[in-house]
Amino acid sequence: ARTFFVGGNFKMNGSLESVKSIVDRLNESKLAASTEVVIAPPAPYLYWAAQNNKKSQVFIAAQNSYDKASGAYTGEISVNCLKDVGATWVILGHSERRTILKETDEMVASKTKFALDNGVKVILCIGETLEERKAGITLEVCARQLDAVSSKVSDWSDVVVAYEPVWAIGTGLAATPEDAEETHVGIRKHLASTIGAEQAEKVRILYGGSVNGKNANTFKDKANIDGFLVGGASLKPEFVDIINSRE
Ligand code: 13P
Repeated sequence: ARTFFVGGNFKMNGSLESVKSIVDRLNESKLAASTEVVIAPPAPYLYWAAQNNKKSQVFIAAQNSYDKASGAYTGEISVNCLKDVGATWVILGHSERRTILKETDEMVASKTKFALDNGVKVILCIGETLEERKAGITLEVCARQLDAVSSKVSDWSDVVVAYEPVWAIGTGLAATPEDAEETHVGIRKHLASTIGAEQAEKVRILYGGSVNGKNANTFKDKANIDGFLVGGASLKPEFVDIINSRE
């Protein structure tokens, strides 16, 4: 069985005070023991979050990292620095970085390989735009984004895939559980054909896009939805309800 996984992507939000209150809330809340939780505060707060997290089921993620160990790469984030400050995961390939920061499939793949080779686990985000969905190429887009990674990475045991349709991010219009499950099944089938059925069966596939404390449990009976990557709601008390939505 795949361990239920809930990630909180704070994006470029918050302050020392608000990150503190989120970490405090997780420390003080009763969290479903069977859920793995990963929070991704902005980089300046990673060390603080790692130092103050008291829950053994909660881990810290960065929202980006680079594909070189160190050197003259002004503004980039080193995987070694992440490990140094206690972050054990990194979110890569988020649609906001693909579209706004112009990250290519190739860059995402290279960064994924570098993070994994250096002992940081990866939440790999994929997903189609509204135009691509309307054109009926959702699975082709996801396959292309995954293939860029599988051409470089053969061991997927430290990768979690987050399917985040761009049209569902921050819009309040989550995919229906049925639509998400259908795409997740397609993603898993595609992975089986590229990285092998055994690994594909173990990879967790998260859904992301307007998940909140109310709709999270509507995905409960979907066999291929192994958790969520949460944006806006991860900043709010309802994040705990999402963590506990499989109980
Ligand atoms: P929202 O939950 O705010 O729609 O964001 C989803 C997301 O992009 C998580 O990475």
